[in-house]
Amino acid sequence: MTEELVHHIWQFGLFEQNNLKTIQNEKIEIKKAGTYNTDAGPDFFNAKIKIGDTLWAGNVEIHINASDWDKHKHQNNLAYNNIILHVVYNADQKILRNTNTEIPTLELKNIIDQRIITNYQKIKSNKDWIPCEKEIKKTPSIIIDNIIDKLLIERIESKTKQIEENLILNKFNWEETFYQHMAKNFGFKTNAIPFELLAKSIPSTIFAKHKNSLPQIEALLFGQAGFLNDHFNDTYLLQLQNEYLFLKQKYKLQPIEKHLWKFLRLRPSNFPTIRIAQFADLIFNSVHLFSKTIEASNEIYLSELLKVKASNYWQNHYVFEKETKTKEKLLGAESINNIIINTIVPFVFMYGKHKNDDNYTQKSVSYLQNIKAEKNTIIKNWKDIGLKINTAYEAQAFIQLKNEYCSQKKCLKCSIGNYLLKNL
Ligand code: SF4
Repeated sequence: MTEELVHHIWQFGLFEQNNLKTIQNEKIEIKKAGTYNTDAGPDFFNAKIKIGDTLWAGNVEIHINASDWDKHKHQNNLAYNNIILHVVYNADQKILRNTNTEIPTLELKNIIDQRIITNYQKIKSNKDWIPCEKEIKKTPSIIIDNIIDKLLIERIESKTKQIEENLILNKFNWEETFYQHMAKNFGFKTNAIPFELLAKSIPSTIFAKHKNSLPQIEALLFGQAGFLNDHFNDTYLLQLQNEYLFLKQKYKLQPIEKHLWKFLRLRPSNFPTIRIAQFADLIFNSVHLFSKTIEASNEIYLSELLKVKASNYWQNHYVFEKETKTKEKLLGAESINNIIINTIVPFVFMYGKHKNDDNYTQKSVSYLQNIKAEKNTIIKNWKDIGLKINTAYEAQAFIQLKNEYCSQKKCLKCSIGNYLLKNL
């Protein structure tokens, strides 16, 4: 038995409610279990309980054993003086208030369906990829559908937190904040940090002044990324180097360290050099990128906007001065979807919240419904268990479920867990 489970049993009334009596033998009728309190103080606030002939409104405290009251030193804490009911799994002793009056106590031990305890232990002690791996398919689809909607919003909101912080730092300059997040996304997992540092080292307003020259945009990006400090022989690189030296002086720029970029274990087409060249193409082709993104009407337009490619030099290079076979370096469909899912959707969603305009929030969610589910280990494992995940909408919800609930064994906070607890 855990206190978490006793809380859950009380909160959802998972015990025999007819002929309820306190251990002092007074009749109890629960009108309202109260609001669960996750901070310090009593466990449930504002409960309404009829004890004997009196209707009480106040707080409820929960313990496994009644004697935990003394162990937790509640007898010396005034916050616990107005407890109207002490709910315990096991009433191993009488508990007195500091006024020497006995606290009405409800013992659950003999009125809980034992299956709930057995099922809880079964799920909690399971070591599979997710604790309910063998049982989840017994959950009715309506419960799973409902949880998907809730989890999806949770996931988008968790992504908007970082955006919110950066928006404040950028004095609510949406265009600049969007440019920084977009750059970070171009680094994907491996080079997200150097890409973010790179974007923060050159304000997007500088690019606006060079919007007609791709070589100048590339010079700014490769130079600030720390790639233009070497000795080159190639004409194109010498041109970038000269441009950069001039622009660096003009805008008093400080480059980031080249060693921050990671190439190891990356496929050449994902090398940061290629991603920087593609990002340069995005800047070159999309002035006012944020405004264009926010007013886009569908994900097809967004995909077109993101169909960028590295410039000519990169068609036969993956790194500086090492020639390879010619291959167009287009940003692939999976990468484009990744950017829509991780940058565009949270931005459009948050913009809608800020403007109090549901058109934007709904539009952002609809993008996810129209994009195919991404491929990664989490999604693969969910599919192996037998769940159908077709869209990015479902995929994002199931990633949230795995990371924020299953991995932390928060099964009592999950409606699938609530169902299985009662129905295994
Ligand atoms: S959190 Fe929910 S889905 Fe995840 S293991 Fe627990 S009961 Fe299953």
